Amino acid sequence: MKLTENFTLEELYASATAARKGIDNTPSMVVQQNLRMLAEKILQPIRDEYRHPITVTSGYRCATLNKAVNGAKNSQHLTGCAADIKCTYTSKAYLFRLILRMIREGKIVVGQLIWEYGTADEPNWIHVSLPTAGKKNQVLYLYKVQK
Ligand SMILES: [Zn+2]
Repeated sequence: MKLTENFTLEELYASATAARKGIDNTPSMVVQQNLRMLAEKILQPIRDEYRHPITVTSGYRCATLNKAVNGAKNSQHLTGCAADIKCTYTSKAYLFRLILRMIREGKIVVGQLIWEYGTADEPNWIHVSLPTAGKKNQVLYLYKVQK
């Protein structure tokens, strides 16, 4: 089911790990509504600004799947409010900076924008989420500092 111009519901809950382990990662109606909001308010605006394909590597994760991938216990992926994204047209660092600029210009409001691992030059992936009561426009960098 198409949620926005460039994102489908299916790609926001597809999981190779779930398929491999036989985990049913089908989202509830509430989760589906969150995924729709995530696509409309965060992912599509980023895609429109970037103007090149963005791949969602992980969106919704049911509790079993979240445990299987060692996700954080209170992860926003559990409610369908977060997505991990990658791109190949440019570096992921470029996409991260583009998202950061959109936040600063008020074009999008996120819960968290996270530079996920990798190095100071390039993250392994980018985590973006919807804002909540406790999380608004938090920007985190999780890479290891080279010693
Ligand atoms: Zn994530």
